[in-house]
Amino acid sequence: MMEKLSAEEFDFNFNSVKERLYKAAEKSGRKAEDIILLAATKTVDAETVNYAIGKGISYIGENKVQELLSKEDKIVPVHKHFIGHLQTNKVKDIIDKVELIQSVDSLKLAAEISKQAVKAGRNMDILLEVNIGGEESKWGFEPETVEENLRQTALLPNIKVKGLMAIPPICENMEENRKYFHEMHKLFIDIADKKIDNSSMEILSMGMSDDFEIAVSEGANLIRLGTALFGKRIYY
Ligand SMILES: *Cc1c(COP(=O)(O)O)cnc(C)c1O
Repeated sequence: MMEKLSAEEFDFNFNSVKERLYKAAEKSGRKAEDIILLAATKTVDAETVNYAIGKGISYIGENKVQELLSKEDKIVPVHKHFIGHLQTNKVKDIIDKVELIQSVDSLKLAAEISKQAVKAGRNMDILLEVNIGGEESKWGFEPETVEENLRQTALLPNIKVKGLMAIPPICENMEENRKYFHEMHKLFIDIADKKIDNSSMEILSMGMSDDFEIAVSEGANLIRLGTALFGKRIYY
């Protein structure tokens, strides 16, 4: 869990994030408003999340089902994404609780989301997670297999692929990740060019607290920030 953040601390963090985002966007000739700033709210209490929403955060992402469910009815309405590894047997628990699942990393998971979405009588937007660093420890499709998996996923009912997501390897020097962000953007553009039915390459989700400027300069249009907004947390 996190130590409780004061309103002043959040305001300070949020302002500096906005400043950094503005500069990064400007540097690459883009508009900061065109980049979605999603607050990664793991370990952050509902009250703090609501405060952040009151200050203008309009997208939040949770990465654990249990935590999402425990905060669910305490958080004011906002765009909510699921961003963590999702087990197929938990899909039913969140199918009516989020508007987009960013972390779809297998066809089996996509099929289950489709099945539960049909049951719930809704459509679910998803992103395909790409293991861009080719790390054994990471979830996600290998870059070479993304197109084929997207074609398969696009055939499933009540599910729509809206883009790609990646978590590059942890590096000492953030610049080392530029090549991965660059490759992701290339993949995103290549796949968009193929115009695969029932999919649209609208969202490229990459960049976190330490490296989002680099991600933005390489074409990210959704960044996921935890630490930069809420301070350091203890991993659990
Ligand atoms: C926690 C988390 C983030 C944010 O990480 P920070 O480095 O704290 O900004 C982004 N994406 C995912 C999937 C996360 O779990």
